[in-house]
Amino acid sequence: MSLQCIFCRIAAKEVPAGIVYEDGDVVAFRDLSPQAPTHVLVISRRHVGSLNDMVEADALLLGAMMLVAKNIAAAAGLAAGYRVVTNCGPGAGQSVSHIHLHVLGGRPMSWPPG
Ligand code: AMP
Repeated sequence: MSLQCIFCRIAAKEVPAGIVYEDGDVVAFRDLSPQAPTHVLVISRRHVGSLNDMVEADALLLGAMMLVAKNIAAAAGLAAGYRVVTNCGPGAGQSVSHIHLHVLGGRPMSWPPG
């Protein structure tokens, strides 16, 4: 855990958040500034800066995060479609240096993303 990391502190319940799922490896909570009717962030409980910091040994963790994203979309009734996004690095708009998947749905989505 990184004491300075807001997402580590949410996972540790030191900072309140709308947690919708948690297990030993993964935590999911509602985004503070939602960009769609459903906007949930899926994070690893362990502090990892971004996808760039994931290694082969993290393959199961990454898969678990994706499955949590799928289950959140199903629970939110996003049968018409949803998007799972991870911004990697400042050039892609990553503002929190703790890996997270955005699960977005409930409105039309355009492509390519901005
Ligand atoms: P990114 O820009 O891809 O790094 O995404 C970071 C996301 O974290 C943004 O969508 C923020 O709205 C969200 N966020 C930042 N702080 C919090 C917080 N305390 N609780 C919930 N979401 C947050």
